[in-house]
Amino acid sequence: MAGSKANPPQDPNKTDPDKTDPIKTEPKETNKDNDSAVPKHFIRHIIDEDMASGKYDGRVVTRFPPEPNGYLHIGHAKSICLNFGLARDYNGQCHLRFDDTNPGKENVEYVDAIQEDVRWLGFDWKEHLHYTSDYFDRLYGYAVELIKRGKAYVDDQDAEEIRKNRGTLTEPGTNSPYRDRSVAENLDRFEKMKTGEFAEGTCVLRAKIDMAAPNIIMRDPTLYRIRKLDHHRTASQWCIYPMYDFAHCLSDSIEKITHSICTLEFKNNRELYDWVLDALEVYHPQQIEFARLNLSYTVLSKRKLISLVSDNHVSGWDDPRMPTISGLRRRGYTPAAIRNFCERISVARRDSVVDVALLEHSIREDLNKTAPRMMAVLNPLRVVIENFPEDHSEVIEAVNNPEDPAMGTRKIEFSKILYIEQDDFMEAPPKKFFRLAPGREVRLRYAYFITCTEVIKDESGRVVELRCSYDPATRGGDAPDGRKVKATLHWVSAVHGVDAEVRLYENLFTVENPASAENFADVLNENSVQVLTGCKLEPGLGKRDPGHQCQFERLGYFCADIRDYTQQHPVFNRIVTLRDMWAKIKKQQKA
Ligand code: ATP
Ligand code: MG
Repeated sequence: MAGSKANPPQDPNKTDPDKTDPIKTEPKETNKDNDSAVPKHFIRHIIDEDMASGKYDGRVVTRFPPEPNGYLHIGHAKSICLNFGLARDYNGQCHLRFDDTNPGKENVEYVDAIQEDVRWLGFDWKEHLHYTSDYFDRLYGYAVELIKRGKAYVDDQDAEEIRKNRGTLTEPGTNSPYRDRSVAENLDRFEKMKTGEFAEGTCVLRAKIDMAAPNIIMRDPTLYRIRKLDHHRTASQWCIYPMYDFAHCLSDSIEKITHSICTLEFKNNRELYDWVLDALEVYHPQQIEFARLNLSYTVLSKRKLISLVSDNHVSGWDDPRMPTISGLRRRGYTPAAIRNFCERISVARRDSVVDVALLEHSIREDLNKTAPRMMAVLNPLRVVIENFPEDHSEVIEAVNNPEDPAMGTRKIEFSKILYIEQDDFMEAPPKKFFRLAPGREVRLRYAYFITCTEVIKDESGRVVELRCSYDPATRGGDAPDGRKVKATLHWVSAVHGVDAEVRLYENLFTVENPASAENFADVLNENSVQVLTGCKLEPGLGKRDPGHQCQFERLGYFCADIRDYTQQHPVFNRIVTLRDMWAKIKKQQKA
């Protein structure tokens, strides 16, 4: 078979680049079997020890606790795969718990989207859908209990004073003048906070720990604050809301979680997590911290993602350039690809940045096995085969997926007028350009050898059409006389092809670490989407369902847009190109 190394995009007759990717040959961590020889990450070791010692009577109960104040992103996917994956592998249970203690920023749209995304990733919380707001009564009761135990007090200092009196890393804080209120007075004032007698910001409930604690979090942290805002679930029932550090550990305790897994920025909060549960002498799960996912060329902070949406830098949370689960889904990622990615990056105790090329590698690897190959021409150049009969077409058989013979073949039509890619022709080709040129012969995929005999231009000198001849003896793509061609081009028959819109996506940011830019809007990639119209597709591509994924031969993997694709107006998103940057990086690393 012919093929030319210097020919980007890839020659379809060559092996798919994914096949040569070194990472594929590494033993795959399935994590299905706890006794397998696969290296385990540190959280699995902790759980193994707990299982061996009978610490939680052999139970493993984890939770994924999103705050419904934004859509989930690929970083959350890491946490979801970890928590649900551990529950699956240890015959345990993972709860989905909405950490909804901040009514100003939370809403039902996010609650619904989060559930859809977790389910789409392939995980099931069964009957364990929980809301911190379901525990508001109990949490209030725990706060009252802390007051009774002399471990909490109502502080009438305002936020500014509290901040000022907290001290610094090198200096201890100053006790609040309200710190030694009697239990009775604290109970009375806390009750009044609850019934709405005090204005927002006038007082808070604080834990009574130690204003000189080396860990600043332990300097009498706020447990409850007044917020006169309706909550999306409890409406106007409450005007005081618990802080994360109080609500989270107690929700874990109420749900009898065993391993409360969170990201490293909560490391210092662990002391408070333990303090609250010890002070109340209640069931006590263990908090374990792991490194959050950072991805190159991407931001994964909700605040930044929200501003991308609200400042209209993207079309919405599910814009195919967004690192959200819904964006990745719309782009054409599969749940399996995302799960495999999360498994591959594994879990560590130290922060690092994962190359976005590894995420792209995961979807290529998945679709390489499953996606049918089809032909589509994105920037069409008209080709007339002069020695092919008028008003005639021939049916040609094409392989659906060379990786999977079971996917069979399909019939496509070849006729006198075709489209090829503009890039596949050069009138004055440089040395290493092996595709079509005047007088040169190339192969049309699955069809015939053609030779360019004439170049037609418009007044401006732009090439608008090629006249070619074909060799009927080369049907199927090989010459009986054994002569070779150096390139194989994809094509679409003009009368049979369907018009389409195709959207080409690139990274949303121009720099590897956009989060470090002073203003991340300055490092947005202006060319992150390119919309092509008048693309020509093989007819079958006009009869798909939204969400259908396929490979456009030589171009990449594409997905019928789940919002905009119709059979009358097909719209495809490019998921990834065929070029595998990750394979390249691996090779470079090895070298
Ligand atoms: P913010 O961006 O405002 O810090 P968040 O992303 O932490 O918010 P949550 O809803 O609190 O939002 O996250 C839910 C869970 O997902 C938490 O347990 C959190 O630790 C985890 N998580 C969030 N971001 C990542 C990430 N990049 N990698 C791994 N886990 C993450
Ligand atoms: Mg958070």
